[in-house]
Amino acid sequence: MIFKQERPRRTITIKEDVRDGILSYCKMNHPNEGILILRGKAKKGQVFIDGLVIPPFSHTGPTFAGFPHSFLPFDPSYVGTVHSHPNGVARPSVTDLHNFFGFVSIIVQSPYENDDIFAYDRDGNLLEITISQNKS
Ligand SMILES: [Zn+2]
Repeated sequence: MIFKQERPRRTITIKEDVRDGILSYCKMNHPNEGILILRGKAKKGQVFIDGLVIPPFSHTGPTFAGFPHSFLPFDPSYVGTVHSHPNGVARPSVTDLHNFFGFVSIIVQSPYENDDIFAYDRDGNLLEITISQNKS
């Protein structure tokens, strides 16, 4: 018998006000890319995002947004990054995958509405996003 190895599928939960904050930040930076660090916690393949941090030393431009990861303080609450794609295509670029940080990379495509937000794992696979309406 052959058993197929199934990797546990990672799920991403974002608080609604954090999602709104991401969308406004992307709109603010348009037509340049904007990048933010995602704060939250990761547990058994589940990633919960409940905060945003503006990265130190960030540099933005029309085609690439990033920051030198070596300058980032080690902080276990940093679970990934989010950046915008002003060209309207959310697919991660080779550069994005090379700069993967943490557990999840979120990409928001122009025009940055509620349906323009996508999450990817280290291999560039699309992950499911749940928006949490819990205001606690
Ligand atoms: Zn990108």
